[in-house]
Amino acid sequence: MECYNPGIIKKLEEAVVNRIAAGEIIQRPSNSVKELIENCLDAKSSLIQITVKNGGLKLLQILDNGTGIRKEDMEIVCKRFTTSKLVDFEDLSHIATFGFRGEALASISHVAHLTIQTKTKTEKNAYKASYVDGELAAPLTPCAGIQGTIITIEDLFYNMPQRKQALKSPNEEFQKIVDVVMKYAVQNSKVGFTLKKQGQSPFIRTMPNSTQKDNIKNLYGMQIFKELLDVELKDDLHRFAMKALITKVSYSAKKLTFLLFINNRLVDSSALKLAIDSAYSSFLPKGAHPFVYMSLELEPTNVDVNIHPTKHEVHFLNEEDIVEKIKGALEETLLSSKTTKKVYQQMKLPGAPSNEKLEVKNVTQNEAIRADSFVRTDSKDQKLEKFLINSQSLKMDVCLRDESDMNMKEVKLTSVLNMRKRIQDACSTDLKKTFRSMVFVGVVDKTFALYQYGFRMYLCNISKLCEELFYQRLVFKFQNFKEIRFEPGISLKDLMVIAFESIDWSKADGSKEDAARRATKLLMEKSALLKEYFSVKISEAGLLESLPSLLNNHEPNITFLPMYLLRLATKVNWNTEEDCFESFCRETALFYSSFSRADATSKKHKWMIEHSVSPALKKELLPSTQVTLNMYELTNLQILFKVFERC
Ligand code: ADP
Ligand code: MG
Repeated sequence: MECYNPGIIKKLEEAVVNRIAAGEIIQRPSNSVKELIENCLDAKSSLIQITVKNGGLKLLQILDNGTGIRKEDMEIVCKRFTTSKLVDFEDLSHIATFGFRGEALASISHVAHLTIQTKTKTEKNAYKASYVDGELAAPLTPCAGIQGTIITIEDLFYNMPQRKQALKSPNEEFQKIVDVVMKYAVQNSKVGFTLKKQGQSPFIRTMPNSTQKDNIKNLYGMQIFKELLDVELKDDLHRFAMKALITKVSYSAKKLTFLLFINNRLVDSSALKLAIDSAYSSFLPKGAHPFVYMSLELEPTNVDVNIHPTKHEVHFLNEEDIVEKIKGALEETLLSSKTTKKVYQQMKLPGAPSNEKLEVKNVTQNEAIRADSFVRTDSKDQKLEKFLINSQSLKMDVCLRDESDMNMKEVKLTSVLNMRKRIQDACSTDLKKTFRSMVFVGVVDKTFALYQYGFRMYLCNISKLCEELFYQRLVFKFQNFKEIRFEPGISLKDLMVIAFESIDWSKADGSKEDAARRATKLLMEKSALLKEYFSVKISEAGLLESLPSLLNNHEPNITFLPMYLLRLATKVNWNTEEDCFESFCRETALFYSSFSRADATSKKHKWMIEHSVSPALKKELLPSTQVTLNMYELTNLQILFKVFERC
């Protein structure tokens, strides 16, 4: 190991003394621990062992294997403004070591019983001394010992009973010490740290020559360790270098864990904290926070370390620019991380089949019918058209069911009131506000549309959002629908036949004709209910004459009508009232929100999404948090702008 000579301690000039901020007050045990660890590191120690009793209030002992203190300096080492690290005020700006005020030991000797035992390389034996109010309590005594220093602090605040009382419980003080030691152990991973309560086995132990990641794993846990990303940044303009280890977007905690070292000193910076929050805010949900370890090297002359000795908040020259650059580096790392990409690719890509919940199970209890897909390919669309031509031309008309909207029927059915309440209870007020300020940008395809919210761009599954909107309209306008009329009516039986044609059917399943007849019969039996509550009219001759109108300028795509009717026959639970209404509304909403590829390219569809759907989503949708599963944040526009700036 390299040998280091101890620094020579000189008394600071009066002028220097006066220019340095007022005396540092040791506020609590963890402050002393921080100062003492820094002294050990300044003395080039590779092992630091900390022992505490009663949260450091009864005993705080720090042992190191550093340079030791020269015998002749032992007398003045605890006097105020005594330091081996600073000679005149000019030095203050260049100082690279931690301590520079020569105040830590002096302050401690005023509020505790302080003993120092130390041995330098050249001395044959160690020396020991106790201090009171900065002065030696008795002459130095020689003793046996190895190179390094042992600082023992007993009965902290023995002469300040009020301060002692104001402190938190010994356990909390111990936790604060643990926090300080963990952070220094990560920053100084080459140094082996041990922290223990007196008489117990080590609470913290890190091996000398560990890596920073080793120590994060050891101290902060596997969870964080396996999510770490490296960030490095060097900037010649503002002369700084930054190294950080940050968690991926797949990790989140309730609180931010931020280890910040500037020029190797543990500090706080609210500006950097804000920058981290904002870098992650595009990726993490609200209330979720990362783990960030950051070591920042700045020109010593640019750091205002002397702002206030008891405060760890640090400010530095060009703070805004530097913080902005660091934020950019964090965002860039997060954006280019594979995990981030994976999380954001979980969205279904446009054009992906959306048939997962659309299979048809049973026509009757005995017959299993499988549908390949509810959303038919465009080639199959023709079947219905042909059929419609055969049965003369079809006209869809939206008519008012009643003379005016004023004539709303009051709904008293408990089942419907329950459904309404469920929607209202699940509604998130925050999300409702978000929806209110979303701005429509454009239709992408049959499934997706773009919306902007503040600086964020969302790719929304518009089909799913419509489904929810239609479902809610069905529940809230129950019994009060305008009608979409078919003139002439369409034979229900013929529609059923078409539906059966589009699904897989084996001979063993029986005759399609029979199945179509049974499905038709079932719906005809329910025609009174369908007409009364949902404006679905089926004539006695078995003709479908009307469907409910759910939104101005919107008609369901009749390509999907046959399958919708078949699903009504097979998917709706007609036996219990609430189940029946619920499943009817869900099926109907699904039908109304199924758009074909041809729809998506039509002007009419785009106009409808922009001028009917979007205003309704903004104004009246009661969104539950589930709804956000259909919304994918594409990018934070601020990041995007930055990317463009760089190009
Ligand atoms: P500062 O660190 O600001 O110089 P301190 O009061 O913390 O002031 O320490 C006073 C001096 O005591 C230091 O400058 C250093 O020379 C010496 N010293 C303190 N702790 C140690 C240690 N663990 N090993 C070697 N020297 C030490
Ligand atoms: Mg010091």
